[in-house]
Amino acid sequence: MEKRVFNLNAGPAILPEEVIKEAQEQLFTLPGAGMSILEMSHRSKKFDEILLSAKNGIKSLLDISDDYEILFLQGGASLQFSMVPLNLMPPKNKADYIVTGSWSKKAVKEAKRVGTVNIAASTESENFKRIPKPEEIKLDPDSAYVHFTSNNTIYGTQWHAEPQVGNLPLVCDASSDILFKKIDVSKYALIYAGAQKNIGPSGVVLVILRKDLLERSSDSLHTMLNYKTHVENNSLYNTPNTFGIYMIDLVAKHLVKKGGLDAMYKTNLEKAKLLYDCIDSSDGYYKGHAEKDSRSLMNVTFRLPSEELEKKFIDEVTKAGFVGLKGHRSVGGLRASIYNAFPLLGIQELVKFMIEFKAKNG
Ligand SMILES: *Cc1c(COP(=O)(O)O)cnc(C)c1O
Repeated sequence: MEKRVFNLNAGPAILPEEVIKEAQEQLFTLPGAGMSILEMSHRSKKFDEILLSAKNGIKSLLDISDDYEILFLQGGASLQFSMVPLNLMPPKNKADYIVTGSWSKKAVKEAKRVGTVNIAASTESENFKRIPKPEEIKLDPDSAYVHFTSNNTIYGTQWHAEPQVGNLPLVCDASSDILFKKIDVSKYALIYAGAQKNIGPSGVVLVILRKDLLERSSDSLHTMLNYKTHVENNSLYNTPNTFGIYMIDLVAKHLVKKGGLDAMYKTNLEKAKLLYDCIDSSDGYYKGHAEKDSRSLMNVTFRLPSEELEKKFIDEVTKAGFVGLKGHRSVGGLRASIYNAFPLLGIQELVKFMIEFKAKNG
């Protein structure tokens, strides 16, 4: 079999090796089904079991109460940029958005098509190198909700605690850090996350939605854009991404087996610390993009002394078996996406490479 590389892609991204192997083993015939998951009706009893198990897996990992619905939808996090305001903004037709990166900006763009957007805070003038401080966030007490992006995949910044929003409903795009640790879901009105960063393949988006919010969804909305449709039909109004939901189920079971999200968080802290310590102890050779107190545990963004050296680094690191380190064009430099499934061993090897690269090219 061909060797697997250390995959540092931002998304679609690395999945647990055990899960990939399990899916591979079960791909020809899913036990008890006599056929592949790829060939199975979404209305079959077997798929019902998988869907229920995936929902329960997410519910138990995050300790989600029965006040919330768990949906598996399509259109990615990007369609949630529209569905959130379409469903939740009326009747007030205004909402607060905290802008911490390109994804937040895209969310704002769609919300503006529905109603008035108050930019409650933005760190754009500093190239999104940090998360706003609590005193910088100016909320409208009468807004329909407050939207924020928990982890900024491109810039490598992350909120270490939810923004304080009082009684306003809190909506979160958690695409690139969902399940990286246990969060208190009861603080949120709605959480959405494209699966392809931390919990599964592309083509499915997880939505965790507090049931009382469904009152806001108008019957005049397009059927597929209405959260009520998907709640009433258990995410089966139309054909869902059956394989994606199956993979999320396997990933959730894998996380439980590994000790749940507290264990995951501990490893994530350890992994990120190794990499940031390497950056911080390089006498400025490696420079982190994010300010220290805003650093992401999922996406580590950094630069080298010159673009030439960055090119050389990428060439050589790729040859050494690490893939996906080229930074997003809006930040430049390098980005290591070290999601849940990226192994500690891979970080140790990468740090070794970085120390040697600096010694040779310092
Ligand atoms: C990747 C990403 C998105 C876009 O997800 P799609 O599933 O491609 O629509 C949105 N928000 C964040 C934070 C992301 O990392």
